[in-house]
Amino acid sequence: MLPVINTEAQPVDLLIVGAGFGGLYMLHRARQQGLSALVIDAAGGVGGTWYHNRYPGARVDIQSLEYSFGFDEALQQDWHWTERYAGQPELLRYANHVADRFGLRSGILLDTRLTGAHFDEATQGWMAFTADGRRWQARFLVMATGPLSTPNQPDFPGLSDFKGQVLHTAAWPHQPVDLAGLRVGVIGTGSSGVQTITTLAGEVAQLTVFQRTASYAVPAHNGPLDAALEAQVKADYPGFRERNRRMMGGFGSMLPPNRASALSVTPEERQAIFEERWQIGGFGLLGSFSDLIVNPVANEMAAEFVRGKIRSIVHDPATAAALCPSHPIGCKRLCVDTGYYASFNRPNVRLVDLQAAPIEGFTATGLVTGGEAHTLDALVLATGFDAMTGTLLRLDLRGRGGLRLQDKWEAGPINYLGLTVAGFPNLFNISGPGATAAFTNVIVAIEHQVQWIADTVSDLAARGVRTIEATPEAEADWVAHVNAVAARTIYLNCNSWYLGANIPGKPRMFMPLFGFPAYVARCAEVVQQGYAGFVLG
Ligand code: NAP
Repeated sequence: MLPVINTEAQPVDLLIVGAGFGGLYMLHRARQQGLSALVIDAAGGVGGTWYHNRYPGARVDIQSLEYSFGFDEALQQDWHWTERYAGQPELLRYANHVADRFGLRSGILLDTRLTGAHFDEATQGWMAFTADGRRWQARFLVMATGPLSTPNQPDFPGLSDFKGQVLHTAAWPHQPVDLAGLRVGVIGTGSSGVQTITTLAGEVAQLTVFQRTASYAVPAHNGPLDAALEAQVKADYPGFRERNRRMMGGFGSMLPPNRASALSVTPEERQAIFEERWQIGGFGLLGSFSDLIVNPVANEMAAEFVRGKIRSIVHDPATAAALCPSHPIGCKRLCVDTGYYASFNRPNVRLVDLQAAPIEGFTATGLVTGGEAHTLDALVLATGFDAMTGTLLRLDLRGRGGLRLQDKWEAGPINYLGLTVAGFPNLFNISGPGATAAFTNVIVAIEHQVQWIADTVSDLAARGVRTIEATPEAEADWVAHVNAVAARTIYLNCNSWYLGANIPGKPRMFMPLFGFPAYVARCAEVVQQGYAGFVLG
């Protein structure tokens, strides 16, 4: 029986929304610091992303020795990952293990959907509302709802005419879905699509891939976790974590050191270095030279290296050409795959290029592109997410004076430090716009933000401070900073979810910050300067 702590007379210090990795660690850390906290989540289980994304082949794209909590030495020593890159079931087991190990379930209410929360001037805290009609009073509201939690369901005219099964990767059914022997279509070729396509290719009778934009995918070289590597990391896990925290993305300290510029070496050396990274696998290709994401010429060299790989893997030249992306590599999140391009050599897999033959409509038995009818038994939408803001803007969040977040963010999600929003005192956002989560090993990013929030809440309590609120000036400077960092890179040169460009009508604003160590340093500096950029009330 869960304790009921939703009385207005007994507000919790922290109401945490979301029981993914962010919410779980926020609850644990709050309790460690003697704060009262409650987590609510609409889902029927903990795990967030790994609870919902159960599509075939769902797998992490950062090595599990790195994509895991580092806050507890016994946890990281005891837990054993079976694969180099864990699959969704193992990641979900890990989230449940964390919840059990630290006794977190007594502070988590599942199947409890937040509908809104209003800042209450009288109590200088938050009143939150859940779909079951309950109200929750809290001094602080922590949104641990995740940057990729609201599926993007494009408005495909006529989709309801299709009588086959329609599935979305980000809302995959919990019951087994048997697509074996069926004719299946997949729309979308981002990370979710790439993993789904690679897995379904070997299972279904016929797989038709509807691609609007080709993706760069680098091999994971996944396999059983190397016992020697595991022992080596575990011999000094804290040192390993610390080295990773100093990396731009909070991971990758095992890779060979970056070279300065792709332009400073001979073509042969460059090819050899790219090849070395390709053989290692994972995101490391993008870090082989420090200028790949800032210099378009260097970037094009890496892009062409991957295109060469595509042409060497895919037998049919026309298919290979259609699979070769033209945007800068890394501008959209790189995919980490387990044989994606080779899937297109199978006789049962076909690529349909939507740029050449756009979707014209749906029928009871399939869809029509460029005048051609494709007969399908099932259609998988791997169309991504309304990222970073989608979940928050679907809630009725109101700050001081009833200010609605929808109005505040009409032109884009302005924020301070990626953690707070002016006009919304005592509200913290984990992995939100303005923070580094999208470009960072998200668990490392979560650990940092959670610690910052918990330390701040404890510190304010010790000082007798009741509210913390960003100033509009600090917010404007922060948004300018995030955009200035992005402007020095190739990230503005394509239509990515980082920019909100994947959702029709969404304001175009670059949302994530690049560079984890500098972000950590800035957050610490703000505290040292007496919470610079904040008004303490
Ligand atoms: P995504 O990267 O946004 O990809 C969505 C795909 O759907 C794109 O190919 C997109 O084409 C296509 N699409 C969207 N609307 C469409 C429309 N109306 N018509 C035709 N095609 C359409 O989404 P995702 O693959 O779910 O990945 C999102 C993020 O989640 C990733 O970048 C990553 O951060 C994370 N993720 C990670 C993993 C992992 O490996 N651990 C796995 C899945 C997701 P356009 O490119 O033309 O818009």
